[in-house]
Amino acid sequence: MSAALASALLVPAARAQSTDLSACMAELRPAARSGKVSDATWARHTAGLQADFSVIEKLNFQPEFRTAIWDYLSALVDEERVADGAARLAQHRQVLERAEQRFGVDAATVVAVWGVESNFGQTFGKYPLVQALGTLSCHGRRQSYFRGEFLAALRILQAGHIAPERLVGSWAGAFGHTQFMPSTFERLAVDFDGDGRADLMDSSVDALGSTANFLARAGWQTGVPWGFEVKLPAGISLAGEGRRIKRSVSEWIARGVRRVDGSPLPADLGNLGLLTLAGGNGPAFLVTRNFDALYSYNAAESYGLAIAHLSDRLRGAGPFATPWPTDDAGLSRAERRELQGLLVMRGHDIGPVDGMLGDKSRDAIRAEQQRLGLEVNGRGGQKILKTLRAG
Ligand code: CA
Repeated sequence: MSAALASALLVPAARAQSTDLSACMAELRPAARSGKVSDATWARHTAGLQADFSVIEKLNFQPEFRTAIWDYLSALVDEERVADGAARLAQHRQVLERAEQRFGVDAATVVAVWGVESNFGQTFGKYPLVQALGTLSCHGRRQSYFRGEFLAALRILQAGHIAPERLVGSWAGAFGHTQFMPSTFERLAVDFDGDGRADLMDSSVDALGSTANFLARAGWQTGVPWGFEVKLPAGISLAGEGRRIKRSVSEWIARGVRRVDGSPLPADLGNLGLLTLAGGNGPAFLVTRNFDALYSYNAAESYGLAIAHLSDRLRGAGPFATPWPTDDAGLSRAERRELQGLLVMRGHDIGPVDGMLGDKSRDAIRAEQQRLGLEVNGRGGQKILKTLRAG
């Protein structure tokens, strides 16, 4: 029995939520039928289906603090991921060339998406998808959205693309190398290795083709960069500017915007939007419509910038020219593991040394910051790492 279930049994029966989904499934059955889920598929996957309330906890979770953009990027685009990505580029060169020919999206961009989505196929999530989406279809907010995803997941199984026991993913239903939602899979997954199935769990070839197809359908323009870092003139107004507010190159030139190496802006990229994720004193970028295609993968500008930057690093570029506006820069995954090791050496129980700074790591960082007379914020940055290293 799980700890959650054991504690659920201790509360009065009227307050305990039943994990039995059968009544809800009966209610969903007509929609499943009209949604082309066969009776056999329905019976096979929904009989005895039990709710997993941990996904509802995830749905309702409000993070206690927002991750700063420099913390987010320093873990997602670190030397380790650049090296891993370079190895994948070499290893999958032929498939990536074929994807570029068919979909018009270059290899570095496709591999960068792969690296950010699933660490090149190493992090898929651990939730059985039918159970997670079944639970979300019957409990919590957004049930009608998740019902659509639930039926899509059942159709994917019905079509035999993925074996039922292999269909695991994030609590919200994203799965596989590319972390597609089931409805995204149905629209955009491709069988790129030609075995008759689009298998985004176990075929990196299908996953790379599907990622290229996603970006092509999101409006990717072949041969156009996502954008580039720029230097802003002192005092430029950022009010009203943003990724979607595209202006002509001549207008940006007139406002005094230059490339970071001082060279003039390229005149052949169409209209460009100004992206700043940490105000006017951090790195700034002019972005094309291809950045919007990257954005559409996960609907977050920080996420789009992670892919964009990783793709540039895979093409040989260095870190951003302008530092983030902080005196305590973020940590790579290797540095996070080192920090966790130093916390363990000082007797803190932080769970596994995995480079993920979760609640236990943050509590231990707070305790050490307190002891060392540093600002107590529970954040893993260069200051606490260097101080503990020296000690
Ligand atoms: Ca296939």
